[in-house]
Amino acid sequence: MKEHARVVVIGGGIVGAAMLYHLTKLGWSDVVLVERKQLTAGSTWHAAGGFHSMNSDPNVARLQAYAISVYKEVEEISGQDVGMHLTGGISIAATTERWEVLRYEKERHKVLGIDSHLIGPEEIKKLCPIIDTKDVIGGLYDANEGHLDPYGSTHALAKSARKAGAEVYLNTMVEDLVHKADGTWTVVTDKGNIQCEHVVNAAGLWAREVGQMAGVHVPIVPMEHHYLLTGDIDEIAELDSELPLILDLDGEMYLRQEQNGVLLGVYERHSTPWSVDGTSWDYGESDLLEPRLDRIESELLRGFERYPLLADAGIRRIINGPFTFAPDGNPLIGPVRGVQNYWSCCGVMAGFSQGSGVALALAQWMIDGEPEGDVFAMDVNRFGAYATKKYAIEKGKEFYQNRFLLLCPNDEWPAARPNKVSALHDRLQQANAVFGASFGLEIPLWFAPQGSEPTEVPSFRRSNSHDPVGEECRAVRDSVGILDSSSIAKYEISGPDAVSYMDYLFASRLPDVGRIRMGPLLLPSGQLKGDLTVMRLADDRFMITGSGYLQDFHMLWFEQNSAGKNVRIVNRTDELSAIAIAGPESRALLSLVASVDVDNDSMPFMSAQSVNVGIAPCLIARLSFTGELGYEIYVPTVYARSLYDRLLEVGDKFGIRAFGIRALVSLGKEKSFGIWSREFTPDYTPAMCGLDRFIDYGKADFIGRDAALADRDADHDHKLVTLEIDSSDADAWGYEPIWFKDEYAGFVTSGAYGHTVNKSLALGYVKTQFLDSSNDEFSVHVVDERRPAVIIPEASYDPSGSRMRS
Ligand SMILES: Cc1cc2nc3c(=O)[nH]c(=O)nc-3n(C[C@H](O)[C@H](O)[C@H](O)COP(=O)(O)OP(=O)(O)OC[C@H]3O[C@@H](n4cnc5c(N)ncnc54)[C@H](O)[C@@H]3O)c2cc1C
Repeated sequence: MKEHARVVVIGGGIVGAAMLYHLTKLGWSDVVLVERKQLTAGSTWHAAGGFHSMNSDPNVARLQAYAISVYKEVEEISGQDVGMHLTGGISIAATTERWEVLRYEKERHKVLGIDSHLIGPEEIKKLCPIIDTKDVIGGLYDANEGHLDPYGSTHALAKSARKAGAEVYLNTMVEDLVHKADGTWTVVTDKGNIQCEHVVNAAGLWAREVGQMAGVHVPIVPMEHHYLLTGDIDEIAELDSELPLILDLDGEMYLRQEQNGVLLGVYERHSTPWSVDGTSWDYGESDLLEPRLDRIESELLRGFERYPLLADAGIRRIINGPFTFAPDGNPLIGPVRGVQNYWSCCGVMAGFSQGSGVALALAQWMIDGEPEGDVFAMDVNRFGAYATKKYAIEKGKEFYQNRFLLLCPNDEWPAARPNKVSALHDRLQQANAVFGASFGLEIPLWFAPQGSEPTEVPSFRRSNSHDPVGEECRAVRDSVGILDSSSIAKYEISGPDAVSYMDYLFASRLPDVGRIRMGPLLLPSGQLKGDLTVMRLADDRFMITGSGYLQDFHMLWFEQNSAGKNVRIVNRTDELSAIAIAGPESRALLSLVASVDVDNDSMPFMSAQSVNVGIAPCLIARLSFTGELGYEIYVPTVYARSLYDRLLEVGDKFGIRAFGIRALVSLGKEKSFGIWSREFTPDYTPAMCGLDRFIDYGKADFIGRDAALADRDADHDHKLVTLEIDSSDADAWGYEPIWFKDEYAGFVTSGAYGHTVNKSLALGYVKTQFLDSSNDEFSVHVVDERRPAVIIPEASYDPSGSRMRS
């Protein structure tokens, strides 16, 4: 066994093997994998081996498509048969709602480059003669789906890595991880120690235990999962071709052929978490759990209805095995804050669909410093301290049992909530707020009419929130609205090196004291890393605000770039609340409670100052996320409630009205404001999306400067535009295709109804070759229908920005 290696990957399941292979594929060969038993000895060996590219997150879907392509590659390199059965797969719909969603999904597949098409019940029956299609409306067929051999595919990845110089140590248990002062690691195994630069936690079922060795809490929970294998079925034995993989979404089960019988797996509604306090080191290799037929009885009966032949086929074997789930079902990958050179590569619940995609992204991260493109949906830093063990269990259960649930864009799942609440929570409840959750915090989405149930009906079309949100928007445009914006992230950066540090971190010029600037963050590649707001409170003290769910993502970036700098970086999000007031009457309101003059000269647009509001000490930033005159008031959380009450009391005479995030999104869309995770992500550059206007290209140095200069002068194949869509009952949501005549011209990043301009609006990236085309030939898919659309050259509301500056 080597005593030194650049990387030690812990765990030899499908994910660890894919990780080892991708490190070598990208050029690192001094890498080893340590496996306590044999390869596949965790969840991997008993998996059904099915794979598909569908995922609700487009970037994860893209990586899944990549993962499938790798099996052929490693089979060729290694000579190891991966047992590939590229049977094609059909997701079937048995309800009109599901059918609508599949039609919608098919359009989104175009954007992702996934070649799928719709088929009717007859064709489904032709491809899968054992299915009963009496209630089936149709299906979405993807030729790039199927199943493979878990053993063969894991070994093919590991063998291919070994051919490129990697080593694999079997029957070797990692017992401890010791972090050394220089940031490197001693991996303590029962066969001796390995000194290494990086460790990768790919320990699957034992990822929690391996996390603890480095002091890292891994928010996952293993869940029990059943599938059954039938004996031979004559009708299947006689078929000329193999059955496709069938995902019966409404029946919550999947089926594929296994020799001359079938494998039928079910996602039961009463999920069973397994070993919630940790996985025993004694478990594994060939262990299985006792089948719990009573728990899956109703699902199996549904299976026998869908595939009547199964009832008489005889069950050859029932498998019940555990595999891990993160709270939202997506993997947990990336560096972990505060633990240098430790990499998370776990929580992968669909290892055969996702393993190589996860591994590619993480290997890029380790070798190049960042993954290519936006992988936030898999980033371990999307969860913070709020994702405790209990949270992980409740959310993991919820995800498992909703795995095939029809998920609408406005769905808000209830498990493990409320967790964090703002100081204004009871006031918002009294106002009948409908809540969502962001980074564990309850946030007001919109306010239901008093006397009605504060819930939103899940829908792909305009929901029961539509009219109340419209009223909130009009209140902001006409008088004054008030928003609990406490979820906004607030960071303070100060110290002797604060100026040089900030100047290098941000691509924009730093604001003068008392002033505010938009602050894009760039990666060295010139892609976007953040869209923050920078306020200068003193020469050497800055307050930075941004999206609350990115707190750990941004803190990690701040910390990673602070080496050798004498700066203090503090996340003050929980300790400071935020209340926004916006609308033409907001100044008049503020003037009645503020300790200073708030006229345009005393408190101009994009300025910040410490002010007492009522009796509370606050920081007021004159900013606008609505396009109206507006103020963000930051206040220590202990004062937030009395301040809110005071603002409501004084605001009464102006007709003040609480508004929520939905109204904010709608108002922002009317202004063509982009937002992070939609218009702004690491997939795009500043010149593609217009954030170049905030970049100070004359600055001597900042992260990504050279690339930003090249980006400024380059021709781009896509540009961000605003579209007005002719749609009467639904709005675009994201990743719908934009068409020019019948040509694919781009895709939507986000959409909303503009209530005060009475237009369905969307932002999206359009191929530049179409930008000079005749504007009346565009269309956009909204839900399952192509709707006419026009590109509008400027924001649909107050394009000059006079209202927010007034
Ligand atoms: C019944 C069932 C059916 C499934 N069907 C499918 C399917 O059809 N398609 C699909 O994509 N997914 C499926 N899955 C999920 C799939 O099995 C997992 O996503 C995948 O196996 C996870 O792989 P992994 O490498 O992350 O973890 P694991 O397979 O758990 O591997 C972790 C490895 O790490 C090793 N290890 C742990 N700790 C240490 C240590 N301290 N030192 C050394 N080694 C250590 C373990 O021995 C183990 O081999 C199914 C799961 C189950 C249970």
